[in-house]
Amino acid sequence: MAKYDFDIGILGGGSGGLTVAAGAAQLGAKTLLVDKEGKLGGDCLHYGCVPSKTLIMTSRVRHIMKRAGYFGLPEVDLSPVDFRNVVKRSQHVIGIIQKHDSEERFCKLGAKVEFGEPTFIDEYSIRLNGKNYSAKYWVIATGSSPSIPPIKGLDKTPFITNRELFSLKELPKSMIIFGGGPIGIEMAQAFARLGTEVTVIQRPEQILHKEDKDMADMVMNVLSSEGVSFYLKASIESIQDLGSEREVVIRTAEGVMVALRAETILVAIGREANVGGLALEQIGIDFDKKGIKVDDRMRTNHEHIYAIGDVNGKYLFTHAAGYEGSIVVSNAIFHLPRKADFTNLPWCTYTDPELANIGMNEAMAKAAGREYSVWTEEFRTNDRSLTEGEEVGKIKMLLDEKEKPIGIQILGPHAGELVNEWVAVMNGKVKFSSLVSAIHPYPTLGEINKKVAGNFLSTKIFSDKVKKGLKFFFNLKGRACG
Ligand SMILES: Cc1cc2nc3c(=O)[nH]c(=O)nc-3n(C[C@H](O)[C@H](O)[C@H](O)COP(=O)(O)OP(=O)(O)OC[C@H]3O[C@@H](n4cnc5c(N)ncnc54)[C@H](O)[C@@H]3O)c2cc1C
Repeated sequence: MAKYDFDIGILGGGSGGLTVAAGAAQLGAKTLLVDKEGKLGGDCLHYGCVPSKTLIMTSRVRHIMKRAGYFGLPEVDLSPVDFRNVVKRSQHVIGIIQKHDSEERFCKLGAKVEFGEPTFIDEYSIRLNGKNYSAKYWVIATGSSPSIPPIKGLDKTPFITNRELFSLKELPKSMIIFGGGPIGIEMAQAFARLGTEVTVIQRPEQILHKEDKDMADMVMNVLSSEGVSFYLKASIESIQDLGSEREVVIRTAEGVMVALRAETILVAIGREANVGGLALEQIGIDFDKKGIKVDDRMRTNHEHIYAIGDVNGKYLFTHAAGYEGSIVVSNAIFHLPRKADFTNLPWCTYTDPELANIGMNEAMAKAAGREYSVWTEEFRTNDRSLTEGEEVGKIKMLLDEKEKPIGIQILGPHAGELVNEWVAVMNGKVKFSSLVSAIHPYPTLGEINKKVAGNFLSTKIFSDKVKKGLKFFFNLKGRACG
């Protein structure tokens, strides 16, 4: 040990880095945790998951208030939103979670926390705030930042990203969102529900382009019905600042040039790995704009240096960063050669209704050349969904040629919660007969999981072959009604 100051050093105190720090320190490894921001928690806590989901809830409450008449209540006369109060609530929630992600807590667990901008000076050492620190293992968990596209005029025009969005002083009257991915779409609906006039510009021919088109189109229809405007297959040609407004010129899918105006521009077209300033080139780490290259044990080309979370560009989710962190703890601390397996990775886009997934969707199955069959069930046949006033959405189950589930997509109320049953089913290799025969409480949204599996099983149970067998053995007399 004398050779190194620390057993493990972690650069980045976000979702991935904190997982490694907590695991390693509690297992007795001398742990150094470094973050450049002066606070722990990363993008998820400060500029991502937490403020966005808090904002989504606030906007949902307002949306339900607008629908008071539908629920048989007197119509509500809604005053305009004071966005400072919305930000206050979001900061309150962040403050509560921040305690869990605090320097004090990590110090209690046994990790040394340092703030500053580290630079690798060799494969085992960094320079930080004028001092050198060495460690036997290093973990790079520095996350990602919004990609800024090279659009003519953007460098001279004010715009915002997720870094500024959740601390705006006022609700924008109008907003043009560059990008129809999960961040752009979640925010489009939330701001539209709060009263902003929202336009989304998307280059691919569908929003949420990694999702199956039928599901993404359903989400788009809901947002359109709530007043969000979309330009699909559109390219942004230029942007200019007009003072109180910005003008964005786009080329539409039909090739027509259209000038759009809005008070605020939100850039949400993708993410870039935070690799700058670490001197990775100096120590020969293999990386490109998308991220640091890793193997399935999260090791870089230097086997004692790991890269996890958004910075490796694989799966940009908090739970993926946490999972990858657990792989590092297994490999670097327990010395168990554990590999990451993303076959049953779940994810969710928190629109209303939510769109949750686990495993493969149809687009992924086709790309992988997999044979599959699709089984569906609609939320409008789920009793609880109807009582909640939710009629949009469906569950889609993909089975492979051996009739095993390879993927589930759920578009519906609380889909992100509903997919958790499939996390257990798919990871635990639970048989459909067990899922279908298990008692689910009535009326619950979760019954849709049992129902879709039942749709498949009923083709086996209520088959002509079974009917013939029962008739033969037990002399059943057949249909009683024509
Ligand atoms: C608006 C938005 C909403 C999102 N919603 C969800 C969601 O609902 N669910 C979900 O799963 N994911 C969501 N994400 C994605 C999620 O935030 C990220 O996948 C997750 O934060 C990645 O964790 P990480 O540890 O890789 O990076 P981060 O959590 O960002 O942590 C990186 C840390 O490294 C630090 N750092 C950066 N550079 C350096 C450096 N040079 N030296 C030292 N420290 C450095 C940063 O200060 C930061 O603390 C959302 C993202 C955004 C932007």
